[in-house]
Amino acid sequence: MAASDDIFDVVIVGGGQAGLACGYFMRRTGLNYVILDGEEAPGGAWRHGWDSLRLFSPAKWSSLPGWPMPPCDEQWPPRDHIINYLAAYEQRYRLPLRRPVEVSAVTQGPHGLCVHTDRGDIHARAVISATGTWRHPLMPAYPGRETFTGHQLHSGDYHTAEPFRDQRVLIVGGGNSGAQVLAEVSTVAETTWVTLEPPRFLPDDVDGRVLFERATEKWKAHQEGRRLDTDDGDLGDIVMVPPLKEARERGVLDSVRPFARFTTNGVVWQNGEESAVDTVIWCTGFGPALDHLVPLDVLEDDGRVVLKGTRAKKAPRLWLVGYGEWTGFASATLIGVMRSARATVNDIVQTLDERS
Ligand SMILES: Cc1cc2nc3c(=O)[nH]c(=O)nc-3n(C[C@H](O)[C@H](O)[C@H](O)COP(=O)(O)OP(=O)(O)OC[C@H]3O[C@@H](n4cnc5c(N)ncnc54)[C@H](O)[C@@H]3O)c2cc1C
Repeated sequence: MAASDDIFDVVIVGGGQAGLACGYFMRRTGLNYVILDGEEAPGGAWRHGWDSLRLFSPAKWSSLPGWPMPPCDEQWPPRDHIINYLAAYEQRYRLPLRRPVEVSAVTQGPHGLCVHTDRGDIHARAVISATGTWRHPLMPAYPGRETFTGHQLHSGDYHTAEPFRDQRVLIVGGGNSGAQVLAEVSTVAETTWVTLEPPRFLPDDVDGRVLFERATEKWKAHQEGRRLDTDDGDLGDIVMVPPLKEARERGVLDSVRPFARFTTNGVVWQNGEESAVDTVIWCTGFGPALDHLVPLDVLEDDGRVVLKGTRAKKAPRLWLVGYGEWTGFASATLIGVMRSARATVNDIVQTLDERS
């Protein structure tokens, strides 16, 4: 298709790691494409992580296709190391990013799909949605939550522990986010860690690399119809980064099971006891950020899209990359998104070839 300012073969919505990985494979295809990103600068969701956020996988195991993440002095690379890597990656491959461009909706259009943005409409023969999850924080329903007059925030909005100094803080959520936020906030505040079940800590000498190896082994077994009778950790288990080891030494890594309800100034536990609480930090995960796809009528009740591979069954010119296992094995990780991005671009090339 002839290139024009506002007609592209492929529009990628989202310029985080998933969008960049798709861009890497797109640039080899000869199709004209653009990446639209709502951020002011490179880095995707990593720009919003808390200041002390650490990768749970070493740099060597956190690379996008083509160019390995440069080594880092620290075993678990800090947030800024990843942001710098993503910024350098875009430049190295001269990826065609437009930023900040906010996509409000994707609709059917004369050339296939129409992408509506705050800078005007862009037509596309195919769209890859790679908008991540950061914009869709999840908070579980608890009775009385609306009556609680204390402060509540989600881990997506947490930056440092200092605002919570000397407070009584509940940290809800038993994954890596909850554990890392607890470790930090407990240095300045009185914390209680609320988890559905006792958290699963990995042995001190296990890092994210080992988790990826184990997860890959499980995935292969699943593909081949084999059963693996091991229970030796998965991608959600807690990696003992140094601040967590230090928190364990301080004796603050214990957790309790959920409370029954909120009161105006705290919570009531299952045994009827009450605790006063100043702040609740919800480290309860994220869902896919797919509001822009509402007009296509592809969203199911669970907020996801039914896919064949990474292609939407109800909108055959739409692909989704990077949201989690449902869009490809380990696709929400730096190293894992390569497989889905490559398969997606191959599928698009074949589809557009057939149509032309
Ligand atoms: C505590 C923690 C630790 C983690 N550790 C690791 C780790 O060790 N290794 C690892 O590989 N991963 C790790 N992750 C996961 C990883 O950070 C995320 O899964 C990743 O950021 C997802 O990338 P993405 O490109 O899919 O989405 P994002 O990074 O969220 O990028 C999406 C982009 O799309 C933009 N966007 C969204 N909606 C629109 C719109 N409507 N219009 C225009 N632009 C839009 C956003 O602004 C953003 O720039 C960790 C996550 C957390 C929370």
